[in-house]
Amino acid sequence: MTDPTTSRPEARMHAVLPETADTVDEVLDYARRRALATDIPLDQALRPRDLERLAGRTVTPGGIGARRATAVFENILAPACLTTDHPGYLSFIPSAPSKAASAFDVIVSASSVYGGSWVEGSGAVYAENEVLHWLAAEFGLPQGAGGVFMQGGTIGNLSALVTARDVARRRFADEGRERPSRWIVVCSAEAHSSIASAADVMDVQIVGVPTGADGRLHGDAVAAALDEHGDAVFAVVATGGTTNFGIVDDIASIAAVTHERGVWLHIDGAYGLAAMLVERMRPTFAGVELADSVIVDPHKWLFAPFDACALIYRDPTVAFRAHTQHAEYLDTLTEAADWNPSDLGIQLTRRARGLPLWFSLATHGTERYREAIDYGIHLARRIADEIAARPGFSLVRDPQLSVVVFRRDGWTLADYDRWSQKLLDDQIGFVVPSSHAGEPVVRFAIINPMTTYELLVEILDSME
Ligand SMILES: *Cc1c(COP(=O)(O)O)cnc(C)c1O
Repeated sequence: MTDPTTSRPEARMHAVLPETADTVDEVLDYARRRALATDIPLDQALRPRDLERLAGRTVTPGGIGARRATAVFENILAPACLTTDHPGYLSFIPSAPSKAASAFDVIVSASSVYGGSWVEGSGAVYAENEVLHWLAAEFGLPQGAGGVFMQGGTIGNLSALVTARDVARRRFADEGRERPSRWIVVCSAEAHSSIASAADVMDVQIVGVPTGADGRLHGDAVAAALDEHGDAVFAVVATGGTTNFGIVDDIASIAAVTHERGVWLHIDGAYGLAAMLVERMRPTFAGVELADSVIVDPHKWLFAPFDACALIYRDPTVAFRAHTQHAEYLDTLTEAADWNPSDLGIQLTRRARGLPLWFSLATHGTERYREAIDYGIHLARRIADEIAARPGFSLVRDPQLSVVVFRRDGWTLADYDRWSQKLLDDQIGFVVPSSHAGEPVVRFAIINPMTTYELLVEILDSME
């Protein structure tokens, strides 16, 4: 037998991983079918033992081959995954990647781009930065603003808060003052669970400030929290569109307070900040331009596939200081004055996960994006009016963005559960009950341009 480490490259490849064009074709053919399909059912989860029975053992010493593995995925595993880009998927936050973005994600994989450093991925990083700078300008941030695409909003929020705490620590050190015994992050009582998760990971205290009667966090409440907790507060988080209701905090009044007191302002806009791309929505987000950091998830309302969060800093240099990893084998990277995306958040190896969004924006242009987002806002308004007018239904709150929360009068949680399961069994919609003030409600989160008014009315009719 020949020694595989010395044989010719083709022979070596064959000896180690016998892959042929057929393998690639098998996968890309399926990718093409899936990307272009318009009739993929909603599907639903199967139980582990059903999957065991149907899929059986696929990881074997000899392998089952690309054809069979693809078939197992297409026919058994994929139908056991909810179709999150189905027009009737209205729970949590749906996904609605453009075909351009989904297809380009395949190229990101096929190209083995390393997106962590400029030396390795300058072309990809350049394109990602063009998108980040465009977003920063849309949000009113100054010229020098910049950032990185992270895995998701949870990691984006954590990375931003770690930077904020680092800035506070350095300030205390520079001023020769003793650090507070416990750092504090202030946010609204309605802030996303990822803020509490970040506080937990960082072992800092979280102070949840009550919102006003309008459900929004306001500057005066933040000022009171800062009065009470003083310098121990290293950051204030305002939400640019809560996940549950799509409520945008009163960012302008909060920014005025943080600005005056020199406290870091982070905007969690994972879901909602995309609405700033719609001109008439801008006033709702006044004050974002004063933020020290913001996040928005392209995999939510910017029509990109899972998973991507754009994390943008007003002054990226402070983020580099907080996040750059130092190691002997990395010195050649970290000692250069290059823009290394890994150094702006918690990660090292990095997929160039901003590229699908870049390609989609480059393909369609920014105007189409504005229209696609506006569609969701209009549709939410229209169906909210229908709900308000329908006997037996009541709107819990006027939608600010594209989340509509309502109740079917008199229904218990068990009623909602039964109806929700039937709606999924009938493959019409995926709408799970939510709760508000201890009471069960339903919620439409509208992101997908394929979701129609008629479909939403059909879902309301199914509750009659
Ligand atoms: C979805 C969401 C997050 C978390 O983002 P992931 O990408 O799911 O980690 C954080 N904040 C808000 C407001 C969100 O809607």
